[in-house]
Amino acid sequence: MKSIKMLLAGAALGLTLATPAAFAQDKTTVGVAMPTKSSTRWIADGDNMVKQLQDRGYGTDLQYAEDDIPTQLSQIENMVTKGAKVLVVASIDGTTLSDILKQAHDAGAKVIAYDRLIRETPNVDYYATFDNFQVGVLQATSIADGLGLKDGKGPFNIELFGGSPDDNNAFFFYNGAMSVLQPYIDSGKLVVGSGQTGMDKVGTLRWDPSVAQARMDNILSAFYSDKKVDAVLSPYDGLSIGIISSLKGVGYGSGEMKMPIISGQDAEVPSVKAIIAGEQASTIFKDTRELAKVTVDMVDAMAAGKEVTVNDTKTYENGVKVVPSYLLKPVLVTKDNYKQVLVDSGYYTADQLK
Ligand code: BGC
Repeated sequence: MKSIKMLLAGAALGLTLATPAAFAQDKTTVGVAMPTKSSTRWIADGDNMVKQLQDRGYGTDLQYAEDDIPTQLSQIENMVTKGAKVLVVASIDGTTLSDILKQAHDAGAKVIAYDRLIRETPNVDYYATFDNFQVGVLQATSIADGLGLKDGKGPFNIELFGGSPDDNNAFFFYNGAMSVLQPYIDSGKLVVGSGQTGMDKVGTLRWDPSVAQARMDNILSAFYSDKKVDAVLSPYDGLSIGIISSLKGVGYGSGEMKMPIISGQDAEVPSVKAIIAGEQASTIFKDTRELAKVTVDMVDAMAAGKEVTVNDTKTYENGVKVVPSYLLKPVLVTKDNYKQVLVDSGYYTADQLK
């Protein structure tokens, strides 16, 4: 513990004493483990992390595991073996890292859980993420507003999709959404046509769009031969794309068959385009530049032996301890504000969304 502090503090000292060219050698290497390149949000996360770490003089070792748990484990093991003193980990399955993080800890490394909580281990020091419950609240609010539930309209048919059950976030998204939807379900203004509720029934392993598409296909053929779906709670843009294909397959979005109100998350380009085209109602923008900044600030503070800034010390209990967290604010994006939120902020160019 002491030796890392000295090592990290020494690295920080390098910042003030060394010439810029020497920074990279003087500062420690940060291992960054990302889950997959199959979704562009994680590519943006990795790029922003590397850029901001390098701007502040750190070496970086960025790895993607293509949603394969053993691959992620061996990547992290490699980082530890190569001597990384800080690990930033966006886990695939948040419960599978206990052994490797024990090794990392024994080797003197600090660990930051990135976006997704790492569970069942004492060896996670900080958590940088967004307010995940609020993500669900915003997703459901866009559905409630789109349907006019507050004005007493209804009853409407809804179907619910959850994220991957091995991702702690998925439960926060679902619970946040249900905090808004459940009262309408209880009052009969929303009817879950399939009757499938609860993360054990609506979860989508590894956030796989084809799994969501297949489930939607089944639901439509089993429960909607004589009625229409009015809304679909989807926790992630990739799933929304699968759900929309399924709906289009049976005629939604053309003629009399209106597309249901569908939510999403991550503001990925194809889904923002679907919002502009009126096929998806909303997404959630989580500015990966900000998440990288908060995370790199944590690395810097640890390196300097300073107090790490957090804004939540209650919410994220990981099965062993409450992990001190910094929660950023998610933003709801619709056709009405996408230009302001996504283009004016410089996240995307107008051309990318054409
Ligand atoms: C992230 C979401 C993302 C999902 C699928 C979650 O852990 O918080 O932003 O949509 O994983 O990649």
